[in-house]
Amino acid sequence: MKELIFASHNQGKIKELREMLTPLNIKVLSADDMSLPDVEETGTTFEENAILKAKTISVLTKMPVLADDSGLCVDALGGRPGVYTARYAPNRNFDLAMDMLLKELDEAANPSRAAHFSCVLALCFPNGEKVCFEGRVDGTIANQKSGSAGFGFDPIFIPSGYDLTFAELGREIKNRISHRGRALQKLAVYLKAQG
Ligand code: IMP
Repeated sequence: MKELIFASHNQGKIKELREMLTPLNIKVLSADDMSLPDVEETGTTFEENAILKAKTISVLTKMPVLADDSGLCVDALGGRPGVYTARYAPNRNFDLAMDMLLKELDEAANPSRAAHFSCVLALCFPNGEKVCFEGRVDGTIANQKSGSAGFGFDPIFIPSGYDLTFAELGREIKNRISHRGRALQKLAVYLKAQG
């Protein structure tokens, strides 16, 4: 496979995927490159949503399509926002969303700040075949926002084993240890084996 569509409009994710697949000589076309419609995430799990997006766009374009669904699961909030992470932010304002999350956590009965990011990548082919890859990174929610790299909730997530947020650690470290990075490493192993 020399070319695939990544069914996402999220510039942060597209950049991360291109950085990881360019060394494999795989060209990544984005949803914006292809003027693709948005697919509504009606599933209740990351896997259901990722497959739904990849399958819909693969049927439409007759090309291999990769889609991801990811989110932040906070222990003290019973795993929320989870699959609803993107919708937690009013008008996709993640700065405001982080303030809301920090406030919710300060007011929560459970004092734990443990959290994890999860990601499922689904690769669907026009012949109906599909394969999924999962990644997860554990960590804690910081007391305040720090750092300017990355996107979404990066300024408040401190991965286990580090003292800095994803937004302070920068792309290189994040790509190596993140939920999406780990799922992508599994995808890369699969794509290499396919030749
Ligand atoms: P979706 O996967 O596009 O449905 O979006 C999930 C939401 O989770 C994103 O809009 C981000 O807010 C958040 N998210 C997912 N991955 C990351 C990440 O690597 N860093 C920060 N936030 C993330």
